[in-house]
Amino acid sequence: MAEKLKGTTVSRSLIEDLSARMGKLSQQSIVPKLAFIRVGERPEDLTYQKMVTKRCAKLGIQTELHAFAEDASQEAIAQAIEEINHDDTVSGCLMFRPLPKRFDEEALIKLLDPKKDMDGITPASLYGVVTGQQVGFSPCTAEGITTLLDYYHVPICGARVVVVGRSLVIGKPVANLLLSRDATVTICHSRTRDLNVLTRQADILIVATGHPKMIGTAGLAAGQVVIDVGMNWDEQTKRFVGDVDEEAAEQIVKAYTPVPGGVGATTTAILMKHVVEAAERGIA
Ligand code: NAP
Repeated sequence: MAEKLKGTTVSRSLIEDLSARMGKLSQQSIVPKLAFIRVGERPEDLTYQKMVTKRCAKLGIQTELHAFAEDASQEAIAQAIEEINHDDTVSGCLMFRPLPKRFDEEALIKLLDPKKDMDGITPASLYGVVTGQQVGFSPCTAEGITTLLDYYHVPICGARVVVVGRSLVIGKPVANLLLSRDATVTICHSRTRDLNVLTRQADILIVATGHPKMIGTAGLAAGQVVIDVGMNWDEQTKRFVGDVDEEAAEQIVKAYTPVPGGVGATTTAILMKHVVEAAERGIA
């Protein structure tokens, strides 16, 4: 039976560390604050906002919301970003994406100060991820994955890593973070031939495709550590399922992250870590 790498345990440990850091900030009368930018009322945005707000409040991080109707103007959102950039009481910003199609999302992202970019979406933040330089912050999910691997002492240097998925929020940044830690990284995507042959060769297999259970028995091998990033809502069972067939993983691999309770749980904790770190950097 494979070991379950629980993100909830990693998250608890991160929050404990953050509580101590919040104590030090509070001695200097500094209260970190996270600003949300939300356009429209997509249920998943509302759910994530509610969850993050609750967890921030528990830790003592303030939150403020810049909410816009779907028919708001590009200029109104640009103005909110500029305000956030110049507001010294705001440590960082999280913009819920994707924005409705009629917005020029890329132009808005470019306006955000990388120092306040909590989810590594600006070009400067991504430059930092690729070069290993500290420019802004890494995308939270990608950093959550490396944090989880470190917490469970999974060796990264020299490991054969296969990442399935090449999005800018998960696949590409996590591949680069692991490359900078001296892993040998292969990135797969929808045009990859013989996917299962490649995934079976991995010491660490990371799957982020958005296709429920797409990696099963044929794509898994003994001894692997499998990181399942997928969060797919199953209407029939009314629960989230991953991109990896959990029953197959349990029987075949060495360790895997469950869904829910795996990668997702670390993502929010990393977001809060970034807010605390932004507040610390502001006074350094
Ligand atoms: P995305 O932007 O849709 O990217 C999916 C990637 O998977 C693309 O690169 C695509 O390849 C690749 N892909 C699709 N079908 C494939 C196939 N049959 N074989 C190989 N590769 C295939 O998705 P994303 O934003 O990266 O999200 C991926 C998953 O992670 C989703 O389930 C999402 O819900 C979940 N997620 C989880 C968290 C968390 O905290 N746990 C956070 C964000 C997202 P092409 O580039 O060739 O199209």
